[in-house]
Amino acid sequence: MTFDERKTFLKDIATSISRWSFTRLFAECIDKNHFDSSRETIVEVQAFEQVVSRFEQYLEIQCKVTHNQCLGLLIHDNNETVSKKHTLLMKEFHKVGTFWTDITQIIETPLFVNSELTSMIQIADLCSYALRRYLENGEEYLFELIFQRADRKDGIAVGVRHFTNQPCPCRICIEHRKPQ
Ligand SMILES: [Zn+2]
Repeated sequence: MTFDERKTFLKDIATSISRWSFTRLFAECIDKNHFDSSRETIVEVQAFEQVVSRFEQYLEIQCKVTHNQCLGLLIHDNNETVSKKHTLLMKEFHKVGTFWTDITQIIETPLFVNSELTSMIQIADLCSYALRRYLENGEEYLFELIFQRADRKDGIAVGVRHFTNQPCPCRICIEHRKPQ
């Protein structure tokens, strides 16, 4: 495929995702420029904890709203280092909760799959690519589609956060903030 064909292809997929009203995007975007490498593991663990907590809270709200049991499952791209770490973390979260919430709706430890064979993981990859290109390059053509699916509560995009120690005017930071 030519560069333009690839771009059009990605945009077509992102357009489809933007129309899936049943989907919710949860993401933690870490600005690594602002954290020294010695803190990288801590920052990654906190990012996982954040995403797990937001997904759990989303499921709890869905349970209340629909009066149905809404259970969730985490599915990861397979990576040996990450799989061990996240399995242990998830077991711990099931026992004692995360910093923000008990875990009652996310079942099991994460499943790890081969992303080449699993289209939903490729779709998640496209979402993270879109977020990354927006934050690092200011590229909006995929971001503006994907970001429509960020989980929102009372008009705030609670599902997606940009974690940086600088004041930031990006759309993720603006829409993640509670109105003053
Ligand atoms: Zn930002």
